[in-house]
Amino acid sequence: MLLYNSATRRRDEFVPNEAGKVSMYTCGPTVYHYAHIGNLRSYIMEDVLEKYFRYAGYDVTRVMNITDVGHLSSDADTGEDKMLKGAKREKKTVMEIAKYYTDAFFADCAKLNIKTPDVVAPATSCIDEFIKVIEGLLDKGYAYEAGGNIYFDTSKLKQYYIFNDFKEEDLEVGVREGVEEDGNQRNKADFVLLFTKSKFDDQELKWDSPWGIGYPGWHIECSCISMKYLGESLDIHCGGIDNAFPHHTNEIAQSEAYIGHKWCNYWFHVHHLNTSSGKMSKSSGEFLTVSLLESKGYDPLVYRLFCLQSHYRKSLVFSYENLDNAVIAYNKMITRVLSLLKEEQGEMDTAAFDELKAKFCAALDNDLNTSLAVTAVYDVLKAKTTPATKLALLDDFDRVLGLDIVGAAKKQLDAEKKAAEEAASDPFIREIEDMIAQRAAAKKAKDYALADQIRQALTDKGVTLIDTPQGTKYTVN
Ligand SMILES: [Zn+2]
Repeated sequence: MLLYNSATRRRDEFVPNEAGKVSMYTCGPTVYHYAHIGNLRSYIMEDVLEKYFRYAGYDVTRVMNITDVGHLSSDADTGEDKMLKGAKREKKTVMEIAKYYTDAFFADCAKLNIKTPDVVAPATSCIDEFIKVIEGLLDKGYAYEAGGNIYFDTSKLKQYYIFNDFKEEDLEVGVREGVEEDGNQRNKADFVLLFTKSKFDDQELKWDSPWGIGYPGWHIECSCISMKYLGESLDIHCGGIDNAFPHHTNEIAQSEAYIGHKWCNYWFHVHHLNTSSGKMSKSSGEFLTVSLLESKGYDPLVYRLFCLQSHYRKSLVFSYENLDNAVIAYNKMITRVLSLLKEEQGEMDTAAFDELKAKFCAALDNDLNTSLAVTAVYDVLKAKTTPATKLALLDDFDRVLGLDIVGAAKKQLDAEKKAAEEAASDPFIREIEDMIAQRAAAKKAKDYALADQIRQALTDKGVTLIDTPQGTKYTVN
């Protein structure tokens, strides 16, 4: 499988450290608010990647952190701790906010068919590990204490910038995002590992440490949680592209300084979801959440399809018009599967199965091209093979795509059957349907007078007929 690797800036053949096994780490949410659908795009694409690894036969262990402490706010709202901000907004404690929004995040994930990672670790559950790694970095001379805080010394590394061409003068944003300019840093890019002198006087969550009572910075948590559960060599690390710098850059710096060798082989970054007015955020424009889409009548799986229809390394523009196109595509697929379910199933056609499956795999083997994988679904629907083969393929592909098209079609079929059964047991409906059949027979026999008579009799019963190319339908007043 070829995967684009942000660290090498090319598509590399994916080869895990241990044959047949994949260790995978994902930066989890900062649980101070609902996730917006732009955040969830990353989790959808990472879910497809994980599922494709499993589909390809790998034994995957995936770990995700939950940031419930230590994340400073971004540029747009400089200077606050995100968790404190949430707690103030809702007049709750930080832990209440963390619990509420962690649950909300996983509820959204469930609606989007995103599998929960094997290990989910809140930052607050791993404080001892953070302290151990920070002590190690101090011992090795990669960290220093200044003004009561512990900083990572980026000047001690041969190469700090990994993913792109950030230069010292481009760092203003990075400095503001990761570390407050507090005058204690020796180098502009240095970042805080642990705060004891906080500018946030009301910081609720604090722990004892060898350097005083304090709390960890954001970056250290991912390194430590990854090493705790996945060891010192990681196969693949995932996240949104805006985490590449400074967050992932800092993760690499501190992890490799601590363990003394290469840490992670592949970096998988999902690009932004934009609106027509720019990058999606919680603070500008409509706050787009899964619940908002549902309240407007959209099935969350339509949003999943919308994401799958484009490549993870391209920015994607969200608009309701674009989402409506995904609705049309999704419903079309369901309708076609519904008619497959009603047909004579036939024998399994192994040759056709293998050929169509190979196309699907080729798409995903080529840097997770989900848009072509969705095309492979259409190829199945159009293929000249038996319904049994097609349904087996769709079930097989859905282990990766998670669109549940066959499930949705089966639900519709059940609903149709139930409606037919109810109609069959209702004498009034049976009578109407008999009369409609008699009218059709009269029309066929060109006995228009009788046909009109029947229509009138139905009108008298409060039944309105609608003739369509698919036959006569009716409404009862
Ligand atoms: Zn992270």
